[in-house]
Amino acid sequence: MPPAVSPPPEIVVNTTLVPLEKPAAPKPQPKKPERPKGRAFALTGADIEGQDGTNVRYRKKCIECGYKDSSSHTMVISNKTIKENFFCPKCRKRRDVAIQCQA
Ligand SMILES: [Zn+2]
Repeated sequence: MPPAVSPPPEIVVNTTLVPLEKPAAPKPQPKKPERPKGRAFALTGADIEGQDGTNVRYRKKCIECGYKDSSSHTMVISNKTIKENFFCPKCRKRRDVAIQCQA
C-alpha cells in the first residue's frame, strides 16, 4: 500500500495585511498616580528598616539589651497600631513590640 500522501497544506497568502490598530499615542503621564502614602513608626521594640508607603519592613528588637531578631518582617501599612511580641533569647523574656501605622 502506498503511503498516504497528504495534500500540500493550503498556503494562505495574506494579501490584506491589515496594520494592527495602533494604540492611541500614550498620553503624557499625568502626575504620579496616587499612591498610598502610609507611614510607619516604631513605637517600641522594633526598628523600621524600610518602607515604601505601602509596606513596611521592620525588625523586632529587645528594648532591654538591644538584641535584634534574626529576621525582619514585612507588613502592609494600615491605619492602626500593630502590637506584637518578641521573645528575647538573651534576656529570656518577652518584649512588647509596637508599630504605629498611618495609612
Ligand atoms: Zn534582651
